[in-house]
Amino acid sequence: MITLALSKGRIFDETLPLLRAAGIEVRGDPEKSRELILATNQSDVRVLVVRATDVPTYVQYGGADLGITGKDTLLEHGSLGLYQPLDLQIAKCRISVAVREGFDYLDAVQQGSRLKVATKYVAIARDFFATKGVHVDLIKLYGSMELAPLTGLADAIVDLVSTGNTLKANHLVEVERIMDISARLVVNQAALKLKQAPIRRIIDAFATAVAQ
Ligand code: AMP
Repeated sequence: MITLALSKGRIFDETLPLLRAAGIEVRGDPEKSRELILATNQSDVRVLVVRATDVPTYVQYGGADLGITGKDTLLEHGSLGLYQPLDLQIAKCRISVAVREGFDYLDAVQQGSRLKVATKYVAIARDFFATKGVHVDLIKLYGSMELAPLTGLADAIVDLVSTGNTLKANHLVEVERIMDISARLVVNQAALKLKQAPIRRIIDAFATAVAQ
């Protein structure tokens, strides 16, 4: 059995064409059903529906052989024991610094004052500001980071940005792009040895589909 861990939403939707290219059709739709293990047209391939931030954990400990997750999640989680053969070029976005409209970010950074930064991405934010030599107090949040600068909880946020509509709707502006993000295929290293042929077949089919 080959088990693939996916999260609901954008990653699931954008992975379906890649699976199809590998001859795999998923039976069921996680938006419509509460089933967490989905069968496919191939009796030896199944899909687990897990939280995005849990994908690396499932693959690391062998609960899944393969998984698809954002580079943001991998950087936060760490990628110990995970083989990362492919950038799948899906679920593309960027991770950026944003502040309230009218907040003078450059001045705050140049003054050397301690910036209060709210984010779900504490490791990425810590590395970024350390490299810039900016002193920050990091505030860990689990959602709705946009609220933090609007309520005085923080001066800035570090969050994923795609179209920029969410920032705009909350009167925030993007002031720095930290890095581009896309989804990666991760593979359990032991599974790669034990189930080499079927896993290689999937990796190769994905690689061909991505290159097209
Ligand atoms: P947007 O309004 O298009 O800039 O999207 C921003 C919101 O969608 C933020 O709250 C992000 O957390 C989320 N988002 C955008 N792109 C992604 C992605 N590739 N993966 C997960 N969440 C995303």
